[in-house]
Amino acid sequence: MKLAKIKIDDRVSYAQVDGDACRLIDGDILGRWKPTDETVPLAEVQLLAPVEPRQVVAIGLNYRAHAEESGMALPDHPLIFIKTPNCVIGPGEPILLPKMAPDEVDYECELVIVIGTQAKNVSVEDAPAYVLGYTCGNDVSARDCQLKQDTQWARGKCFDTFAPLGPWIETDLDADSAPIKLSVNGDVRQESNTSDLIFSCMELVSFISRCMTLYPGSVIMTGTPSGVAFMTDPPPFLREGDTATVEIEGIGSLTNPVEKEK
Ligand code: MG
Repeated sequence: MKLAKIKIDDRVSYAQVDGDACRLIDGDILGRWKPTDETVPLAEVQLLAPVEPRQVVAIGLNYRAHAEESGMALPDHPLIFIKTPNCVIGPGEPILLPKMAPDEVDYECELVIVIGTQAKNVSVEDAPAYVLGYTCGNDVSARDCQLKQDTQWARGKCFDTFAPLGPWIETDLDADSAPIKLSVNGDVRQESNTSDLIFSCMELVSFISRCMTLYPGSVIMTGTPSGVAFMTDPPPFLREGDTATVEIEGIGSLTNPVEKEK
């Protein structure tokens, strides 16, 4: 089932997406809801980020091939960092090259876990009950801030618009074997499969819930495969006029244009 947050004219609603149609939902997908009789064509709605997360937890170095290209040893536990809610944008909204750091803005396609039920100290076995579903994400990063100017990642990872999410939440996905890729202007830059994840989605939910309470609507960005710009020579960082698309088989695709911050 695909659960979307949509805007039609000035009205915002949740909806179940089925083929070319959106069936509007009465209620909140993080609580009680039921489908209504009202449908609208998918082509006529604006898709919004499917959740407004209180927490955006992200994982560094979680694909074997990306760890290898970075020259790093495989981690023995998930390396977590935080992005902030101001980063979140929906499908079609522009990724803004920040005035402060416009030159080394990079892309990272990621499978994103959406938490459905408050989770604390959850075992790997019990973790599926706390997950609502999955969406596509782009962990946009200003590499100059992240890797050259600062000794930690908060600034480089948390500029406005640096966490596109969407197009919707897929509740029925085999998260352990989903093909994932990212293209810029149609040119494929990253291509992998979540079977290359070092820590699985359920291991991540369990590990993070043993660190912090995870709230309904919070998201976990599960890490990116190889092929990011800063590991490529010369690095094809994002430029004004580019279009970045994250595609995960079984979910859909998330496309965002790139603009300069005004
Ligand atoms: Mg990342």
